[in-house]
Amino acid sequence: MSTTPLKDLQIDNSLGKVLFSWNSGLVSEVSISKLRGMCPCASCQGHGNAPRFINNTVKSIKKTEFVGRYALTFIFSDGHSTGIYSWEFLRQITELDT
Ligand SMILES: [Zn+2]
Repeated sequence: MSTTPLKDLQIDNSLGKVLFSWNSGLVSEVSISKLRGMCPCASCQGHGNAPRFINNTVKSIKKTEFVGRYALTFIFSDGHSTGIYSWEFLRQITELDT
C-alpha cells in the first residue's frame, strides 16, 4: 500500500463511517451514507458537472477493493458497486466535512 497516498482504511459499519489515514498524516472521516450519496458513477451522477448528493439510507459497506493504484471501489449494503473513487475525489469529499 506504500505506493498509494492512502496509508490505512478503517470501515466501521456499526457507526456507519469510514476513517481514511493518508500518508501525509491527515486522517479524515466520512459517513458511509455520504460516500454512497456522492458515488461518482455515471448512473448516479448523470451528465452534470458538479458532483451531487444522492439521498440514500445506506449505512454499511460489504467490501472495498483497490482499482490499480489510483482508486478504490466500495460494495455498499444496497449492492451498488460501480463507483470508482480516486484518491483526489476521496480527499475532496472527506474534507467537505471539516
Ligand atoms: Zn453510483
